[in-house]
Amino acid sequence: MSRVRGRDTTPEIIVRKLAHGLGFRFRLQKRELPGKPDLVFPARKKIILVHGCFWHRHRGCPKATMPKSNIDMWKEKFRRNLDRDRKNLAELEQVGWRVLIVWQCETRKLQMLQRKLRRFLA
Ligand SMILES: [Zn+2]
Repeated sequence: MSRVRGRDTTPEIIVRKLAHGLGFRFRLQKRELPGKPDLVFPARKKIILVHGCFWHRHRGCPKATMPKSNIDMWKEKFRRNLDRDRKNLAELEQVGWRVLIVWQCETRKLQMLQRKLRRFLA
C-alpha cells in the first residue's frame, strides 16, 4: 500500500485538521484493519479513507488521467488498486465499520468537505 499512498500526504492532513476542528477524536492508520484506513473513529465505529484521485481512479475526475505510455501496465496497476479498494471496503463493512471515502479533489473545497464530514460523523 505504501507505493500507492504515502503517509502524511496533504489531503490526509486537511481531512485530519477538519475532523479535529469539528471536535471528533480519531486514530490514525490502525494497522490491524484492512487497508490501514487513514482516520479511524473507534467510538463511532466509523472510518474515513482519503483517496488520491489518480491512483484510486476517481470516476469523472480530471485528476484521474490515463498516462500516455505503458497503457497496459497502468491499466493493470489501476485494476489491482481498485480490486484492493473494493476488497478492503467489503471487509471493513462486514465487521460493522461505516466507511466514508474522501477524494483528494474534495479537500480543495473546505466548506463542502466540512459539511460532508460533519454529516458522516454526527
Ligand atoms: Zn477527484
